[in-house]
Amino acid sequence: MDHGSEILPARTSNVGSMTVRRALPQRTRRTVGAWCFVDHMGPVAIGSTAPAGVGVHPHIGLQTVTWLRAGELLHRDSLGSEQVIRPGQVNLMTAGRGVAHAEEPTASRGDLHGVQFWIAQPEHARHGAPAFAHHAALPVVTLGHAEVTVLAGTCAGVRAPAEVATELVGIDLALRRGTTVVPLDERFEHALVVLEGAVRVRGLDDAVITPGRLAYLGLGAAEVALEVGEDAAAVLVGGVPFEAPVTMWWNFVGRTRPEIETARADWAAAAPRFGALVSPLGRIDAPELPWASGR
Ligand code: MN
Repeated sequence: MDHGSEILPARTSNVGSMTVRRALPQRTRRTVGAWCFVDHMGPVAIGSTAPAGVGVHPHIGLQTVTWLRAGELLHRDSLGSEQVIRPGQVNLMTAGRGVAHAEEPTASRGDLHGVQFWIAQPEHARHGAPAFAHHAALPVVTLGHAEVTVLAGTCAGVRAPAEVATELVGIDLALRRGTTVVPLDERFEHALVVLEGAVRVRGLDDAVITPGRLAYLGLGAAEVALEVGEDAAAVLVGGVPFEAPVTMWWNFVGRTRPEIETARADWAAAAPRFGALVSPLGRIDAPELPWASGR
């Protein structure tokens, strides 16, 4: 496998009270297909420090895909949605022109472990209405030594219920000892993020990927062989290379700085585009822009 593959380090970031490994975006690689953000949270003991979760904040131009391997979170948003998510389920929030939400702790104890992905919305969808969907049951397929849960798109002929606007795939892999060959769509570029354990990627210099790194598998691969010596967990994302470069800042995905500046000002002014939501975790103000505004 070459296909322009490479291994990139994730960086550590703070989301609410949680420390996360941010595998995407990368400075040199903003998107993989339409996937523009991959945050790996935990495993962290709930209640060990501050409560897990994040206060009310806005989004534009993206879909959030929340996937838990352990624990629970309560999703609430300005559309009136109120939904506990548990392992094996997906919460899919579509921001479009604007939405606000919070992720709050529940009474559950134990570890919290999961991933939040963002999918950049294409031009034809990104100015549309916000929406929320909860998928309580997802398709699971056995592939080699792996149990594969299809979070979005299609894998091995099995399609996830999540409604997305571009051709893409997102899967969770529970890997057992041995080598598992995962079929890939050759029209896609793909990347692998390991959540637990160590995964050897055949062909990618046989590199062993561990949590905190992103293995970019490149464009055009027909399959990837993953070898593990002990149980491991990973997520794989892919898609048709995105239609345009994205401008991402804070919780906003757009195309230009002025539209990001407008979204920031609208959030500061509590503009109707984001709706209204109150959370015990409070409301999060946008940070200062890293560039001079008014350009
Ligand atoms: Mn969010």
